[in-house]
Amino acid sequence: MNATRMKSDRPRLFDTLHRKELELNPSDGETFRFYCCGPTVYGPAHIGNFRTFVLQDILRRVIELSGMKAKHVRNITDVDDKTIRDSQAEGKTLTEFTQHWTERFHEDCRKLNLLEPHIEPSAVDHIPHQITMIAQLMESGHAYQGSDKSIYYKVDSFPAYGKLSHLDEREIQLGSSQSANDSDEYEKDSLADFALWKARKPEDGDNYWDSAWGQGRPGWHLECSAMSLEYLGAPFDLHSGGIDLCFPHHENEIAQSEAATGKEMCHHWFHTTHLTVNGGKMSKTARNFYTLTDLEEAGFSASELRYALASAHYRQPLNFVAKDKLGNETFESLHSAQQALNRLARAELELRNAAGETEPPTYQSLLDQEIELGAFQPAWEALLSDLNTPDCLGKTFTALKEKHSAPKNAWLALHVILAGLGITLPVEESVDVPAEIQEKAQKRWDAKQAKDWAAADALRDELAEAGWQIKDAKDGFEVVPID
Ligand code: AMP
Ligand code: ZN
Repeated sequence: MNATRMKSDRPRLFDTLHRKELELNPSDGETFRFYCCGPTVYGPAHIGNFRTFVLQDILRRVIELSGMKAKHVRNITDVDDKTIRDSQAEGKTLTEFTQHWTERFHEDCRKLNLLEPHIEPSAVDHIPHQITMIAQLMESGHAYQGSDKSIYYKVDSFPAYGKLSHLDEREIQLGSSQSANDSDEYEKDSLADFALWKARKPEDGDNYWDSAWGQGRPGWHLECSAMSLEYLGAPFDLHSGGIDLCFPHHENEIAQSEAATGKEMCHHWFHTTHLTVNGGKMSKTARNFYTLTDLEEAGFSASELRYALASAHYRQPLNFVAKDKLGNETFESLHSAQQALNRLARAELELRNAAGETEPPTYQSLLDQEIELGAFQPAWEALLSDLNTPDCLGKTFTALKEKHSAPKNAWLALHVILAGLGITLPVEESVDVPAEIQEKAQKRWDAKQAKDWAAADALRDELAEAGWQIKDAKDGFEVVPID
């Protein structure tokens, strides 16, 4: 099997730890091993969560399309303060409750065309692994049992604590540690010993396990350390999540993993910036979130959402405007995505017909072939360059404007880009626009460009009378039959 070989380098990605772009290579020379913090399954994932999951999926695709093998692990958080709290409120067992939301998450992932991770471990299925790690940390003096019987990580026993989130440059410092903190999530700037094992409390109901330190359950930060070690070893290649996870979650993961194994946890750290709503982070807690179902009910597809998410660079905040000043729902970015996808679908159809093909190539077939990218090379390079998805989209439209002397090649190259972005196109019916209509539409476009509004309007009316409608975009137009 041939890996796709395109005259290009390996992907480069901004690394949170090193604060610069680094080239991605599999450290074992073979498989790029990466871990993504997965969803906490206590409700539907919102489109902010999916900004992160979609970008991780694009990263996976770019890694594979550039010829590397990937091993992708994404966990399911199915035991923590929130899953326990809400399952109890609904009178359900934790398993019943989390299974429901896990299935819903999978359904949304399928609609959004996310590749399935190779391994999707759940926290509840890995309690023994977590207990083993706590034992190692107790033995090596990095953990202690508090008076409440919970086990805490002794933050100042790990001098490198803070290296990821650059604590040394912030106001809080190692040594200023206050009392231990046993909640799973805590405020950004509170530095405290954190819980590895939470002693059983009455409000936990039946959700507890036995351990050498008494009954209880693991703290939230521990599961990713234990499961990444189990499935990817140490050090692995890359760890990822939304930027909110950088501190304390990922900082705590490093402290646990590196103190337990004596090895670096992983080489690269990849964090996505938040999707915001009116400037504030979209979150379940703030109740300002939209789910995929909300958008479907408003008439948009998962593929339009995916396109809208790809239209901003992952290191820039993406503000999702759902309402205008009058409070009307606008979903601006989704309307633009709809138009752009229609244009892409038409361009794809044209190239497909010119290439004499009928079915789009599968993702696997693109991995297996050597494809000359030609005019699409700049679009691919944008993806290699810190996953610059908006630049990639812009360069794809530029490439489509060119005359393609080898349509089959151009068609395949377009599909490499679409596969990298994970974009699926709406099905486009083949419409034969009569030559005189196309000509008239072109004249009307030229008149519009020349700001001859009267002529442009007259031609538009003539076309409408003949049953054709013109749809303008920023850099071109299309003619479609009036329904
Ligand atoms: P959770 O289900 O809360 O554990 O989050 C799942 C993933 O979504 C994590 O990687 C979070 O960092 C990420 N995430 C949460 N909110 C947002 C947001 N508004 N924008 C982008 N990513 C987010
Ligand atoms: Zn995690």
